Amino acid sequence: MPISLYNSLSRRIEPFAPLDPSRVTVYLCGPTVYNYVHIGNARGPVVFDVLVKLLRRHYPKVIYARNITDVDDKINTAAIEQGVPIGQITSRFTQAYREDMAELGIAPPDVEPHATAHIGQIIAMIQTLIQSGHAYEAESHVLFDVASYAAYGALSGRDTDELIAGARVEVAPYKKNPTDFVLWKPSTPELPGWDSPWGRGRPGWHIECSAMTAAHLGETIDIHAGGVDLQFPHHENEIAQSTCAHGGKVFARWWLHNGMLTFEGRKMSKSLGNVLHVHELLKQHPHEALRLLLLRGHYRQPLDWSDAAIAQAISTLDGWYRVLRELGDIAVDVTQPLPVPERLEAALCDDMNTPQALAELSLLADAARQTPSPATKAALLGGGATLGLLQQDAEAWFKQASGSDVDAQRVETLLEERRAARAARDFARADAIRNELTAMGVAIEDGTQGTRWSVAKH
Ligand SMILES: [Zn+2]
Repeated sequence: MPISLYNSLSRRIEPFAPLDPSRVTVYLCGPTVYNYVHIGNARGPVVFDVLVKLLRRHYPKVIYARNITDVDDKINTAAIEQGVPIGQITSRFTQAYREDMAELGIAPPDVEPHATAHIGQIIAMIQTLIQSGHAYEAESHVLFDVASYAAYGALSGRDTDELIAGARVEVAPYKKNPTDFVLWKPSTPELPGWDSPWGRGRPGWHIECSAMTAAHLGETIDIHAGGVDLQFPHHENEIAQSTCAHGGKVFARWWLHNGMLTFEGRKMSKSLGNVLHVHELLKQHPHEALRLLLLRGHYRQPLDWSDAAIAQAISTLDGWYRVLRELGDIAVDVTQPLPVPERLEAALCDDMNTPQALAELSLLADAARQTPSPATKAALLGGGATLGLLQQDAEAWFKQASGSDVDAQRVETLLEERRAARAARDFARADAIRNELTAMGVAIEDGTQGTRWSVAKH
């Protein structure tokens, strides 16, 4: 089944064909590690996790790199504000990022390059750019000379002349053109810095992705991904740097951009006070519900986050897990890989149409409920796996608490007491126990196979 992907560079959907099918290369711009990331920053990692898993089903080897930006002025500011060394900030939030992404069911990348571990490659790339006339040194800075690269603006559809005319920011006096961007800048003694031919300093942001891509994936890669907010200037600058440093070779053959997240229709921003951190959301809601919500819209469209949308995602998962719980006695052959349902795969191959894939998953759940069998159950589980959903035991799903911690042992003890009370026809005691469970947020359901319980999630 061929994969088609929308390429932001050509602005159309194209059949995907890697340069070397035995080594597919994907790069995603990762976080700047100075704080917990907000939920909008998890959308790219989730949707491109689905893409990488899809590619892995189609190609024998995929190398997926997602970087860590661990040198940045925001990190410096955070370190100064908190009075701690920079490394303490970056290591703490790198670890938090890895944990939060894992909780969202995102597989770790094959390579997780850190900017500070690639200063040598960054300096070498800047030197090449200077030698080839694409960069210049001015007042201890090195700048990329945008006028030296005729194709600048092709990705974002911007015209260089318009960019220059439209530049409103106060232009640094050492720049030849207002659109020229920093490759290297000087550091004061308090700031992190490295020795370079231009004095002690640190890299600009854009150059790190160009250097790390070349170091780990090669000069031409198959897919470069990121949020649409990075398209300009970050990705435009990456293209300029990499293409000019590599003698005009194509940098990334496909550019994929995910849309932005809004919160109840408004932009998420610090000034509006509506920034939701993944780290906090994970404490409040079932993790799969957050993942499902991020996959609910098509990745290129904006997506709205709201409490109602979370409740809806939980309710959808409740429905699917209810089917799996009903099918609890049906054994699926665990020695075989789970099947990849064809129609669901077709939806993902069609420019990662996750809304359609989720609709197919609902149909698989209906089929499994109507015709319980090892095959229909395996199809439901297999479909869930392609999206990173239905990854837990159905009983565990219903018993997991969110927001409050329900003590499962305590629930079991109370249920045992209730069984004993009912057996002794002490219905007042049995009702009192039920009320106690209700107060704990636990719902119980008496059935032929005994009493089942679940925790209210919203
Ligand atoms: Zn980047």
